[in-house]
Amino acid sequence: MTDTKWLVHKFGGTSVADADCFRRVADILLAGPPRQAVVVSAMAKMTDALLNLVTGAEKSSASIAPGLEALKTRYRAAAMALLPVAASAPVLESFDRDVADARDVLQAVSLVRSAADRSRDLIAGFGELWSSRLLAAFLAERCRAESRDMPIRWIDARELIVVEHGELGPAVQWEVSQTNARRLFAGMPRGIAVVTGFIASDQAGLYTTLGRNGSDYSSSIVGALLDASEIVIWTDVDGVMSADPNRVPEAAIIRDLTYNEAMELAYFGAKVIHPQTMTPAVLRSIPIYIKNTFNPSAPGSRIGPPVPGSGTASDQIKGVTSVDDVALVNLEGTGMIGVPGTADRLFGALRNAGISVILISQASSEHSICFAVPARHAAQVEQVVRQAFTLELQQGQIQSVDVKTGCSIIAVVGDGMAGLPGVAAKFFGTLGNAGINVRAIAQGSSERNISAVIDRQESTRALRAAHSGFYLSAKTISVGLVGPGNVGATLLQQLAEQAGRLTREFGLDLRVRAIATSSEMLLTERAIDLGRWREAFEAGRQPLDWARFERHVKADHLPHAALVDCSASQAVADRYIDWFRAGIHVITPNKKAHSGSQAGYDRLFAEARAHNASFLYETTVGAALPVIGTLRDLNQTGDEIISIEGILSGTLAYLFNVYDGRRPFSEIVVEARDKGYTEPDPRDDLSGMDFARKLIILAREMGLRLEPRDVQVESLVPHGLEAGSVADFLAALPRFDAGVQARLDAARRDGKILRYVGRLSRSGGATVRLEALPADHAFAHMNLTDNIVRFESRRYSANPLVVQGPGAGPAVTAAGVFADLLRLAAYLGPAR
Ligand code: ADP
Ligand code: ASP
Ligand code: MG
Repeated sequence: MTDTKWLVHKFGGTSVADADCFRRVADILLAGPPRQAVVVSAMAKMTDALLNLVTGAEKSSASIAPGLEALKTRYRAAAMALLPVAASAPVLESFDRDVADARDVLQAVSLVRSAADRSRDLIAGFGELWSSRLLAAFLAERCRAESRDMPIRWIDARELIVVEHGELGPAVQWEVSQTNARRLFAGMPRGIAVVTGFIASDQAGLYTTLGRNGSDYSSSIVGALLDASEIVIWTDVDGVMSADPNRVPEAAIIRDLTYNEAMELAYFGAKVIHPQTMTPAVLRSIPIYIKNTFNPSAPGSRIGPPVPGSGTASDQIKGVTSVDDVALVNLEGTGMIGVPGTADRLFGALRNAGISVILISQASSEHSICFAVPARHAAQVEQVVRQAFTLELQQGQIQSVDVKTGCSIIAVVGDGMAGLPGVAAKFFGTLGNAGINVRAIAQGSSERNISAVIDRQESTRALRAAHSGFYLSAKTISVGLVGPGNVGATLLQQLAEQAGRLTREFGLDLRVRAIATSSEMLLTERAIDLGRWREAFEAGRQPLDWARFERHVKADHLPHAALVDCSASQAVADRYIDWFRAGIHVITPNKKAHSGSQAGYDRLFAEARAHNASFLYETTVGAALPVIGTLRDLNQTGDEIISIEGILSGTLAYLFNVYDGRRPFSEIVVEARDKGYTEPDPRDDLSGMDFARKLIILAREMGLRLEPRDVQVESLVPHGLEAGSVADFLAALPRFDAGVQARLDAARRDGKILRYVGRLSRSGGATVRLEALPADHAFAHMNLTDNIVRFESRRYSANPLVVQGPGAGPAVTAAGVFADLLRLAAYLGPAR
């Protein structure tokens, strides 16, 4: 019978950070198959701490003792928590011996004031020795305590993996390593072998390391040596994600990647896996899984050979990454044109200096060559290049060597983009929309990667913008709501009910991420659960800060931002210009911003246009009735509006629909107020001012320019009652009933009716007043609070166009705002 295959695991530093972590790891291993090898990193931050000790010792010996003491405390605490005294004694003895060795080496370093690479490697590698010994002892202890018959073996990778350091990093010497493996893993048809990560030997038998984050590489070397069935890399995230989740909140798990995709992502900065990890696994087609130690049941990511037929065309890219801290070098000169060998000399010189180049781009004119290197090499690179081209620089064939530090490379990666047009356009389009300047571009002919060099400070914004361009619906809108009162709260409820359907059917992803009242706000990274927004607001509210509110809504990682102002506040309206300048679209039923002075109106619209921001306010006239939309359609299709007349106040419509002289007018006002048809202070309606604002909005929509004082308004608030309490006003109102009655009687004598009407005409004139109209006039037969507007135009002259229906109330107003939000989404681009 042949032995079952090995399963190889690797646990990263965060997975073995403390005693609890070791318990989790043991649980995973003890539930695994019978034959496992487990490669272990140093406890989290241990390698950093050890390397800091070396750097510290180069300066002075004073830091050595306290530094080692801190490591001791941490390690002892973990060992004592995990092991009974008898089992911890041998582990702590080895540890103390290592610490004594480390102290000697560090003392030596501090004497010479400089650490040789060998000393640095030796010290750095202790972390893996310590964590793996502790894990092996703990597994043995668990098996003993649980009476499992499971052999546990500890293996020092310095006796196993032999490498040779070359230009491309450490290269495994497979033959000797294979011989070592046969010896070290012999006689283990079952059991768990615990192997140190990160460390190895060179051909001379000296200790070395595989480079920072090298334990991933160790695991795939061990996987190849053991011809494992699979390699599982355990870390602290659920898998390879479409971007670094610390920087892009929207990042999502990538379930399947090819080796090449993973390599490209890793090379371009996705720290979750080390770039060199892939090679040994590829040689034997061993799949690599990335899984979360803290969430082991999550499926994780699978990295393997391409699976034929898998993946869809919509998987244009797999991920977005960045390499930060690079320098961009530009070599420019007319002397390079048509001269063969320039690039060869350039990169030859860099190779001789041991500098690896991350990205190269040369325009076809050969007038300049531009390349990126790690920023820490910037000064050296400049020197090397100047030296290599001394003559050309002196003679002017090369005019400049320009080194710009403070750059980042951002790259989109995916096999799927090969042969798919439009990926580059989308990538650079998203960067452009986010206002990010691209300094250099490179695309490999594999078409697996497109990279752009940008400013370092912009790299997180660039990652977010590119990620959202590929991963989110083009109709993802970050929404902030101001004023969750009647209309606002109803809107949130309507959104809660419709959101799922809108996403499914139209790819529309409306994310309400901020809510503000007049004094408080709630800001959330993800969308607020709108079914429970009140609870969320209660739990997360904080004092209102407009600047933060605005910045939050205009999130870099979401393609669009909109603010919905459901307040009636002038102070909020005064902020629109700032919002437009930030590129935020505004939707509102609030009339204040665009019914004031003409100059203010002009400024508002100029700013919106200048910043490509939409301003949608259909609900400011007649709630959801299509009044402004109709007017615009007429205008834009070349019709000319001659006049508009209408009843644009539900309150005033109601009062005169009901008032027939049998009951006094004041009584009807009180009744309307009790039914909730008026503002809390009925004078706000009776004054006609609100109505006048609507008329101003319509007039400007028609193209007329006018100031609020140009509208002649007849106020129905009797002289002398303008100020004072509502109660006093209502008490005094009956005194004026006789006056209204007289107007009604006079109208009736002429066979007419009374209506409070607004009129606008192209030839000038805007009035809002109580009028006597013919009894057969369209305005005579209306439902209680309905609004009505008649447009007379060149096309609709003999028979005017009429829009009529309920023009107030939270449900219809909110629905109108909702419709504006959908209109905005329609402008913003097609669904993906
Ligand atoms: P370990 O200690 O397990 O080796 P690392 O810290 O080296 O873990 O790598 C895991 C981290 O890599 C994650 O916590 C995450 O912050 C970061 N990371 C960067 N890019 C990505 C990505 N594309 N997918 C997943 N994680 C990423
Ligand atoms: N401990 C090493 C490092 O921090 C190797 C690893 O964890 O992969 O670089
Ligand atoms: Mg790592």
